[in-house]
Amino acid sequence: MAGKLILVGTPIGNMGDISPRAIQALEGADIIAAEDTRHTGQLLQSLGIKKPMLAYHEHNRAQAGARLMELLHEGSTVALCTDAGMPGISDPGEELVAACAQQGVEVTAIPGPSAFVMGLVLSGLPCGRFAFEGFLPTQGAQLRERLDSLKGERRTLVLYEAPHRVVQTLERLLEAWGDRMAACARELTKLHEEVLRMPLSGLLAHFKAQPPRGEMVLIVAGAPQPAAATRQDIRRELSLALEGGQRLKEAAGEVARRLGVPAREVYRLGLEMKQEQREE
Ligand code: SAM
Repeated sequence: MAGKLILVGTPIGNMGDISPRAIQALEGADIIAAEDTRHTGQLLQSLGIKKPMLAYHEHNRAQAGARLMELLHEGSTVALCTDAGMPGISDPGEELVAACAQQGVEVTAIPGPSAFVMGLVLSGLPCGRFAFEGFLPTQGAQLRERLDSLKGERRTLVLYEAPHRVVQTLERLLEAWGDRMAACARELTKLHEEVLRMPLSGLLAHFKAQPPRGEMVLIVAGAPQPAAATRQDIRRELSLALEGGQRLKEAAGEVARRLGVPAREVYRLGLEMKQEQREE
């Protein structure tokens, strides 16, 4: 019988956040796959747990992933831990889950903290709809392309960034998206936890004056809603469409779609305009 893969969420800085179920899962596993065996080794040591470990990270995931699948097919229970937080969020894990799903191996998770959720809820920005983008590309052209594609995104944007890159990233965000409201959540759950809530330009000035340290999540307000079209905007667009030879019904439909207003309202304005023309 095939074994089971368990993604085990671990603390993002404060050991007090390890859950009793996470401890149980680690104790019950036959083998613990870890992104960094030294880091997870320390966690296991502090919990008094001794288990065989296998390194599973970005650079050996094909090989180590194949070995883990073999073990799972042989009936082992494998617990997967990454350096911090939930495995699979901006760290290895998703490929192993996909392989299990494809090969009919059971997968479950012991939920734990994730830095982006904590950063988002502390940001003071809307949390109801958000887009988690993880780490942005580091190459100039790819970064520009990604920032352009996200420019119109209305949902709150959540990013991971390394401290040595944050000043440059804030400069790029400011350039590409304008000076939106933002937050930087640093060292979450640790002694020097800090949440800075200010526009992108403020964060940039802050980190230029005070070199950034520690792990961080950047949260940026989504694109502002475009201003609602005024009667004047609708009339202008409609005149252009009618001058181009379109019939009122067609023109009203097209203008309504373009300006995001009800077609009925545009049609009514069109009739008013025609009436005015007749009276002139
Ligand atoms: N799987 C992890 C999770 O669920 O949060 C994320 C792993 S990703 C490789 C590491 C990034 O998460 C860091 O570069 C940082 O952006 C963010 N991060 C992790 N711990 C954090 C903390 N305590 N405070 C703020 N950000 C943190």
